[in-house]
Amino acid sequence: MFINHEEIYNILEETKNPSNEEIKEVLNRAKKKEGLSYKDIAILLQAEDEKDLEQIYSLAGEIKRDIYGKRIVVFAPLYVSDYCVNNCVYCGYRRDNNFCRRRLTMEEVAEEVKILEQMGHKRLALELGEDPSNAPIDYVLECLDTIYKTQNANGEIRRVNVNIAATTVENYKKLHEKGIGTYILFQETYHKPTYEKMHPKSLKGDYEYHLTAFDRAMEAGIDDVGAGVLFGLADPRFEVLGLMMHNAHLEEKYGVGFHTISVPRLQPATGVTLENYPHLLTDKMFKKIVAILRIAVPFTGLILSTRETPAMRKELLKYGVSQISAGSSTGVGGYKEREAGNESKQFKTSDERSPIEILKELLDDGYIPSYCTACYRKGRTGDRFMQLAKSGNIKYVCEPNALMTLHEFTLDYGDKELYNKAQEVIKNETEKIQREDLKTYTKESMEKMKKGERD
Ligand code: SAM
Ligand code: SF4
Repeated sequence: MFINHEEIYNILEETKNPSNEEIKEVLNRAKKKEGLSYKDIAILLQAEDEKDLEQIYSLAGEIKRDIYGKRIVVFAPLYVSDYCVNNCVYCGYRRDNNFCRRRLTMEEVAEEVKILEQMGHKRLALELGEDPSNAPIDYVLECLDTIYKTQNANGEIRRVNVNIAATTVENYKKLHEKGIGTYILFQETYHKPTYEKMHPKSLKGDYEYHLTAFDRAMEAGIDDVGAGVLFGLADPRFEVLGLMMHNAHLEEKYGVGFHTISVPRLQPATGVTLENYPHLLTDKMFKKIVAILRIAVPFTGLILSTRETPAMRKELLKYGVSQISAGSSTGVGGYKEREAGNESKQFKTSDERSPIEILKELLDDGYIPSYCTACYRKGRTGDRFMQLAKSGNIKYVCEPNALMTLHEFTLDYGDKELYNKAQEVIKNETEKIQREDLKTYTKESMEKMKKGERD
């Protein structure tokens, strides 16, 4: 198996208590963006000195600005079913939890999608528990059809990333044919003994089957895969090296690694307290991990959810996070329930702001919120995306697209304050577009949007 536990233990032992000099040498290598060895990454993971940490944050921030500019991609999750045959110790949906489960009908899915569209969302992450009889693959495919065809007056959902349990090549092929964005699956923990303890007597309990899910997805033609670790289950240093080994395996075998990495931290949930988790991630370690991931895999998107507080999200955007969810509900039918004032949740969330409030803060902090889905729609996925990203040319495409989608948002959804803030940023940033042809195209497209044209 490509997660070599012995090797990870040895690397962590070898790189214990790194000197300031060693850390500096790694950071110098990282500046060249030529990738870091596992040993280099372990050295950074074990840095403790505040001055060293400041340097790690500063380099991560530099790399982020260089590759992603000011853009932050915004999306929302959509939970459609909480039926689950698994018994993940940490999850409110686990089968031993007794509550009234439901899966949305297609009418209900459409209702949720309309509410999400009303908030201005263009990009969703479809979420559900694993249950081959109550929520089989055909149900997931039906949901995708419904989401893509449910339109409001101003547009539609343009990209659906899918977070479903590990499955077969045959099922991945069906997802691929339906036109999904990224296939997302969190390994939860790369540490096999912990994995087995956290997933007792269940379909998900097979570590190898779960770990090789992306191999099957790639064999089925899905080339954008999004990984993640549920931080808090095992030693976070082990988890980061596990992520890196998994990524390297995919790069070697399929020519492309993770499109995104998510960094959820364990939260309290129904029947889940955080008392028996000795590896809960401190804020300090969390920040360090996000910065190190940005340095180690500069071209992989980093996703942060509303599990984190507004203050933590604001800080991590500086070091590396490139995509955030906004206005999220983590319960089945949660968007409609929220309107009625009785939302249920899979786990506790900590950022309850609306997308408009979040966008205002992003703009105040100098970012460009982006609803762009152009890469997906133009077929720039997998290694085509990575080649463009690595050539440094992607920013020529992304920056104008981000500005145009922000413009569209302010015309269709924003209040006056958001409109004014955004238009000022749009005006300034459009002037900074270097290629004249793109600058003209961006300006012309935005004029057309004012007259009612939509992408
Ligand atoms: N059921 C699918 C699976 O487990 O892969 C996907 C959907 S599940 C709703 C999405 C993710 O929620 C899981 O992969 C897990 O990492 C995360 N999760 C579960 N319980 C959590 C908790 N208490 N705190 C934070 N995240 C949690
Ligand atoms: Fe089910 Fe996913 Fe929750 Fe595990 S994490 S109990 S598989 S919904």
